[in-house]
Amino acid sequence: MSGSEPERPDPYRTTHGERLVPPHPSQIDLHTHTDRSDGLLPPARLVAEAAAVGVRLLAITDHDTLAGFRDLPASDRPPIVIPGVEINSVAEAIEGLREGELHILGLGVDPDDEAFEAILTEQRARRVERFFRIVRRLRSLGLSIDDQVAGLEPAAGASLGRPQIARLLVAAGHAASVDDAMARILGRGRPGYEPRAGIGPDAAIRAIRAAGGLAVLAHFAEANERRDLVAELKELGLGGLEVHYRHFSVATITALQQVARELSLVPTGGSDYHGDRETYAEAHAALYVPDGVAELLHAALRRSAGLTTSE
Ligand SMILES: [Zn+2]
Ligand SMILES: [Zn+2]
Repeated sequence: MSGSEPERPDPYRTTHGERLVPPHPSQIDLHTHTDRSDGLLPPARLVAEAAAVGVRLLAITDHDTLAGFRDLPASDRPPIVIPGVEINSVAEAIEGLREGELHILGLGVDPDDEAFEAILTEQRARRVERFFRIVRRLRSLGLSIDDQVAGLEPAAGASLGRPQIARLLVAAGHAASVDDAMARILGRGRPGYEPRAGIGPDAAIRAIRAAGGLAVLAHFAEANERRDLVAELKELGLGGLEVHYRHFSVATITALQQVARELSLVPTGGSDYHGDRETYAEAHAALYVPDGVAELLHAALRRSAGLTTSE
């Protein structure tokens, strides 16, 4: 990154300060992406790499799609894989949010829930529209990726996003790296930015709950300063807060742990692995989700299953 650009590309996800030293390799990772959205690894490969470093409970949380979970071959070996999604909800009405978004994870949603799938299908259609709006904008900026787009072959049910565009910009020689493309070209306020369309946080939380899942506020480092907002989301049905996030400092984790405790939110955690910067093993080495989170998550999912079935 150039010297005139002191901010990191994702300052809202990375907090600075002392880093956590995992007491043992994390057995839990509840936030990962595969090539069914903007990650690089096929789902089975991600699961194998997670298993190899000792993960026993893994959530695949691709953006607006459950294709990664559905495409996994059946297996009775660890890790247990939880179906999940990440919904980048549009929250322009809320002051001071980066890119006007709140990211909501849906952990343990029912992959056979047709109403939920209909919502995700609509979300993916909006992603396709945005993708091609950006491609046209880049063309008008003299940063054409038309040849690279022509070679794309997304899997069925896969969703598109800016990281894929960033990789195509790198392939076309218009950017040095995905981070460089996001920071200079695709981020909000940059020439290639196009606003997102889609559901808001309230609709995202409602949809996840209706599908039997736990709605979790992802990588929201400001949760302590914006406790009122988190409390409001809890009123809407939020059930978890991503406390043990790989890019958070010890101080952030400690502060968010307190917020989760006071608001009775399940303190989840994960790597948010995409694959552009490092191997899964390298990402996992910087992650620690306490073992006890598994039981808290299972208990919360049992409660939400009780709410959505007639049992
Ligand atoms: Zn996110
Ligand atoms: Zn993510």
